[in-house]
Amino acid sequence: MKAGRNQAALLAAALWLAACTTPPAAPPVPPAAPVVAAPPLPYSEAVAARFPDPAVSYDTPGLQPMHDAFTSNAELSQALHRLAATSSPRMTIALLPLGASQRGVPLEALVFTREADGSPAALARSGKPTVLLVGQQHGDEPAGSEALLVIAQHIGDGPLASLLDRINVIVLPRANPDGADAKTRVSANGIDINRDHLLLRTPEAQAQAKLVREYRPQVVVDAHEYTVVGRFLQKFNAVQRFDAMLQYATTANLPPDLARVSDEGFRVGMLKSLADEGLTAEWYYTTSTDLADRKVSMGGVQPDTARNVQGMKNAVSFLIETRGVGIGRLHLKRRVHTHVVAISSVLRSAARQGDALLALRRAADADVSAQACRGEAVIEAAATSTQRELLMLDPHDGHDVAVPLVWDSALTLRVVKSRPRPCGYWLAADAEDAVRTLRELGVNVQRLSAGANLTAERWRETARSEGARQDVRGTIADAGSAVIRVQVALAPQPLAAPAGSYYVSLEQPLANLAVAALEPDTQNSFFANRLLRSLDDAARVMSKP
Ligand SMILES: [Zn+2]
Repeated sequence: MKAGRNQAALLAAALWLAACTTPPAAPPVPPAAPVVAAPPLPYSEAVAARFPDPAVSYDTPGLQPMHDAFTSNAELSQALHRLAATSSPRMTIALLPLGASQRGVPLEALVFTREADGSPAALARSGKPTVLLVGQQHGDEPAGSEALLVIAQHIGDGPLASLLDRINVIVLPRANPDGADAKTRVSANGIDINRDHLLLRTPEAQAQAKLVREYRPQVVVDAHEYTVVGRFLQKFNAVQRFDAMLQYATTANLPPDLARVSDEGFRVGMLKSLADEGLTAEWYYTTSTDLADRKVSMGGVQPDTARNVQGMKNAVSFLIETRGVGIGRLHLKRRVHTHVVAISSVLRSAARQGDALLALRRAADADVSAQACRGEAVIEAAATSTQRELLMLDPHDGHDVAVPLVWDSALTLRVVKSRPRPCGYWLAADAEDAVRTLRELGVNVQRLSAGANLTAERWRETARSEGARQDVRGTIADAGSAVIRVQVALAPQPLAAPAGSYYVSLEQPLANLAVAALEPDTQNSFFANRLLRSLDDAARVMSKP
């Protein structure tokens, strides 16, 4: 009986997914036919009834009645330009061109400020924290983009406008317009933009890096959607129930105050705001695409996602996910509303903490800089495996079911590999790719104008293999390029650094990005990903030059 019901649910989901992904082979519809049949539900009416539409009205192209697509790239660009045209003496709304996607679609953000212009210098002079909101890095997760258009309207002329007395806001509603157009998670060349924030191989991730490098936002939000049926239904015979999933930066070497302020100063407020609107929330979690693996993991601890990399830039950095992947336009208004509620809460929390956020940034920058030459740097960390029950929904009657499972918690990091923190790193004169990428990340790299004798340690390769980068979902989409996995031993070695080679001091606020990029024996390192060609092209510098 139970197995039969499982099979029926799987079949229904498979048929529904097929209906969504396969173009119908029907003859052309005559232009006079106005009625489009609603797609079948991906789950029972009882499950759908758990997610009623909120009593709000939002005005984005994608949410218009009878509109059967999400806001298109052209519609979004028009809306952003229209908003920018409403600048007034009270409020600057500046359109920020950030280059173009791989297929040539403009990447556009809006800056909202009380300053006379939207330049990085003006915002730095404002004495207020800056909040950066990013949507739709994954093209098949549209609610974040719709919601950020609503948020932009609410700041421009609505309930959030007065927050500009205390904060500046930058909104990049659609970070992956090519993926949005093609309804794909990845960018046009197959790279997952949200695993590209350390390597910066895509123009889309480079655009975000430039934005963060120039404006140094104190708070960053990354808006996504998550899979609610698909592999979860197959593994657990259950539908995912939470309107919102939240997680702040959880990677090694972060100043501990960042996590404390993220939690007490932002997450608690978001949970309350969501609950006040009848919306449910959990920590962010996901599961691998391997159906035999029933483990559920919080968002990863690797220094590759926007959430973690912006944390390593000493920002309070949040991932907000709504239920959305694989359900088309179903519950769209509720998904958008969930993002609007959570993100509005972040903005209010940032406004309330104004000066404290500026102080947090100064302290985190100083704290990281002060660690150069001291203590241990974590090279590789992992989540902690625990057991818990997670609430899901019965796919038939829509009731809550408590599913016992293995839960990998990213809140408590386990140190897998650490080594003494150097004073800095040396890079060879021809390590241009590494130097360029570090600078794009905002790391200060000095070119030596004269030769210098350095106390150094070199990595000696003891083993090597190749394989795909992994995250908690499984293999990372990266257009098929395998990374080099090396094991190394450290060997002290005096180094005569020639003029024209480079030095990356760890006495700087973004030092932890240099550690993540330059220690070679991790899957995200520049060496593993061929941004550094040889272990001879870099060294650990163990005393101040
Ligand atoms: Zn996503």
